[in-house]
Amino acid sequence: MAQMATDQQHRTDERSAYAIAIRQLEAAAHYLNLDRSLLEILKRPRRELTVNFPVKMDDGSIRVFTGYRVHHNPARGPAKGGIRYHPEVTLDEVRALAMWMTWKCAVVNIPYSGAKGGVVCDPKRLSIHELENLTRRYITEISMLIGPESDVPAPDVGTNPQVMAWIMDTYSMHKGYTVPAVVTGKPIPIGGSEGRLEATGRGVMVVADQALQQIGRRLDGARVVIQGFGNVGSSTAKLMHQAGAKVIAVSDVRGGIYNPNGLDIPSLLHCAGRDGCLQAYRDADHITNEELLELPCDVLVPAALHGVITSANADRIKARVIVEAANGPVTPDADEILDDKGVLVVPDILANAGGVLVSYFEWVQDLQSFFWEEEEVNQKLEKAMRRSYQHVAQTAEQNKVNLRMGAYIIGVKRVAEATIIRGIYP
Ligand code: NAD
Repeated sequence: MAQMATDQQHRTDERSAYAIAIRQLEAAAHYLNLDRSLLEILKRPRRELTVNFPVKMDDGSIRVFTGYRVHHNPARGPAKGGIRYHPEVTLDEVRALAMWMTWKCAVVNIPYSGAKGGVVCDPKRLSIHELENLTRRYITEISMLIGPESDVPAPDVGTNPQVMAWIMDTYSMHKGYTVPAVVTGKPIPIGGSEGRLEATGRGVMVVADQALQQIGRRLDGARVVIQGFGNVGSSTAKLMHQAGAKVIAVSDVRGGIYNPNGLDIPSLLHCAGRDGCLQAYRDADHITNEELLELPCDVLVPAALHGVITSANADRIKARVIVEAANGPVTPDADEILDDKGVLVVPDILANAGGVLVSYFEWVQDLQSFFWEEEEVNQKLEKAMRRSYQHVAQTAEQNKVNLRMGAYIIGVKRVAEATIIRGIYP
């Protein structure tokens, strides 16, 4: 009985995003020989705000929603991080996502600290009007935290450029003047950046290319499997397909489709984001999300939620390379199994940093009211991603660790240094 309870506890902990984030930080602290008190500072979020707020629904009723905004560590600059709308959002998850943002910004060396926000809701079950009401009220509730110099939100699961537009408008209405730099991932006519929509997917493609080169393979002709066909998954599929890779399987929350000869990505992109898009596709086998992860392929891209590759299925993963487009898809226990199998895992804090990089470019453009062409944005993104990958790969090699630990060593070291240099106030 006691053993059963321990196993259950272990399984729960293995998928607790915050427990995972702490475990990863402690491992990096060990390599860096980090001072104990500094580790205690880095482990805890600086601020956590929980808000419960009413929203008028279309049928005249009023529903109370719960939302969060968490700032992790302020050492390197304003807080930056996405807003997630999903029924399973928890404070535990938002804390982890905020911490991962801190390391991510440090790995690609942009002057931000990590934040994250979320509202417990199913955006697919809300009308457009309800979604707007919910967004405007949530932003009002967390308005004491956000601002172009303090905390700059962005899109994440369940949110999109339209939601970012309402955030910008709500904040600007409270101020009495237009403040584009308060949020990134906005539509282009109101201060969004060229290239932002596809930025995370573009970064994923760039690091997939480098990872394949590292093992003596090429992206051209590589077989790619992608879990999640939202903003990140569909952009990754599009760009990988354009680069000559063969995308053989994709999925959404309802399940996946698989054709070993390759899927017709341009036709799938027409319905991406619409309910039933993948289910209506004929020229493929229909499979579950669990089966999709275990398909034989060169590159597996989890681009949905965290905790999908665990000690329970890592042994059955057949990919040569895993590129973590989602945040936290591979648990630490799974990491060990994949290491032993020789699977190269490109960690989230590097792999999906293309999104925050172009968010940073958008913020810089908004602050200067001077906008760049798409080619310039894409070039700057690619250069930063290639440079960051090389730095991570070199650090991993020097320390004889995997890419995840290589990235953590860089990220945690930069944040620790900033914390020490700034000193403890007062
Ligand atoms: P999205 O809401 O646009 O798409 C999410 C996709 O995952 C959808 O296809 C959805 O159907 C699918 N999905 C949801 N629940 C699922 C489940 N239980 N099993 C399988 N699939 C499921 O979200 P997104 O913006 O594409 O984000 C995807 C991941 O990428 C998240 O982990 C997010 O944190 C991460 N990320 C996003 C960005 C960005 O710029 N949007 C940047 C960095 C990282």
